[in-house]
Amino acid sequence: MNFTRPTPDPYGFSFDNSYSKLPDVLFTRANPKSFKNPSLAVFNKSLARSLDLNSDELEADNWASFAGRSIPETAYPIAQAYAGHQFGGFANLGDGRAVLLGEHITFNQDRVDIQLKGAGPTPYSRSGDGLAASGPMLREYLMSEAMYALGVPTTRSLAVMLTGETVYRAEPLEGAVLTRVAASHIRVGTFQYAASIKQPKVLKALADYTISRHFPAFVTHLNPYISLLKAVIDNQAKLIAKWMQIGFIHGVMNTDNMSVFGETIDYGPCAFMNTYNPKTVFSSIDQQGRYAFGNQPMIGEWNLTRFAESLLPLLNENQPEAIRIAGECLDEYQHTFRNNWLAAMRKKIGIFNAEPSDLSLVEDLLMLMYKHQADYTSTFIYLLNPSQLNEQLIDDGAFKNWSAKWRERLSRQAQTMQEVQSLMLSHNPLVIPRNHLVEQVLDHASQGNMQPFHDFLKVLLSPYTPPEDEKYMLAPDLKEDARYRTFCGT
Ligand code: AMP
Ligand code: MG
Repeated sequence: MNFTRPTPDPYGFSFDNSYSKLPDVLFTRANPKSFKNPSLAVFNKSLARSLDLNSDELEADNWASFAGRSIPETAYPIAQAYAGHQFGGFANLGDGRAVLLGEHITFNQDRVDIQLKGAGPTPYSRSGDGLAASGPMLREYLMSEAMYALGVPTTRSLAVMLTGETVYRAEPLEGAVLTRVAASHIRVGTFQYAASIKQPKVLKALADYTISRHFPAFVTHLNPYISLLKAVIDNQAKLIAKWMQIGFIHGVMNTDNMSVFGETIDYGPCAFMNTYNPKTVFSSIDQQGRYAFGNQPMIGEWNLTRFAESLLPLLNENQPEAIRIAGECLDEYQHTFRNNWLAAMRKKIGIFNAEPSDLSLVEDLLMLMYKHQADYTSTFIYLLNPSQLNEQLIDDGAFKNWSAKWRERLSRQAQTMQEVQSLMLSHNPLVIPRNHLVEQVLDHASQGNMQPFHDFLKVLLSPYTPPEDEKYMLAPDLKEDARYRTFCGT
């Protein structure tokens, strides 16, 4: 993408607004709401620095400009239009409670979206108030930063600001604005929207924009749109493989919540699985378990099929041929997902090279975890130290057989046990944002005590390092976790 970096403002913001140069059906101008008494709940200094922002000024100024008191000079705030399949049903949506300030350009010419979530109504708000409560915004901050530290592509969180105003949900809540940083907010649903309005020029403009912003090398390809489809499929397959590796459940994998660049986006009712069970669902609105842990790879493919459908007119003028091409590209999804998932699972059990029997070795272990309701995260950690494993699991003869097979498999590779151990330790996090701990720190935050949030965040930022306090590693009570429910927080 060609541009010159605009002169930074006193906060270091250097906005370019390339999205707002797209056809105007794709967005609407929308100013963030002005709040009278904003205060910072949490600010991400290291992220600010990595984006070449003046973190001290931003922090000292309470991030007040982001409360809409004074929009940064070079910003051009918009709400983006998009559609999406929500739980399988198509709807026109758009940013109903988010405003894109612009694309900040770093010294290295990296381009990131700076978005305010919960900054008041936009033309897409429908009956919503455009606002957000502090609990869900702090939750997104914690979860997205934890995902980043776990090495999963994700949007980041720069700040949560309390608005000083009340948000009315089932009960009155403290209002907040999350400042979100993303490679872009172009969603599968953005393409669905562009395809649904049946203006070929708009779809082409969006596709060309996405290519020039995220995949500039494709410009010279014979058909850049086929390359775009392949890349989006590839990124998404790899992303979901990472989720599956760490036990992450997105919770609301609607097509509007799927980024074409392949970042985890829209942290609503997400949660980490404790006890291994592919049917695990925590979201209160996911009654049928559509977005259960084990369904995620399949839903990813379903969503990408909707993406491919949107792109059809660009893949080939002849529709049957376009459908054939799309099908061929989509066929790659399963391979990419399986290969990436298996490669990661091998590392989780200390295997360096590939053998055909590895898949069943991994699947047999998962089956045993399921049978004995073993904790997903800690089972991998304790494989080399079995006395700490779930008692029922150790007592099961089938597990003893599995262990013997596994040890034999390890002995067939050239690496020493020390190397095996370090591979396992670098691929099995000791700390994840476990549900009960997330709730505890949010509870304290709602009473004005942010210290437990900061303590937990610090531990989550080094997930492979043993925490000083063992409580961060402990699995919750099984019964309580089974009752745990998450909410969209809208
Ligand atoms: P989400 O479940 O957060 O992905 O949101 C789905 C859709 O509902 C998006 O178009 C949001 O912008 C919109 N939405 C969610 N919460 C609100 C709100 N409080 N006010 C207006 N729109 C909202
Ligand atoms: Mg969303």
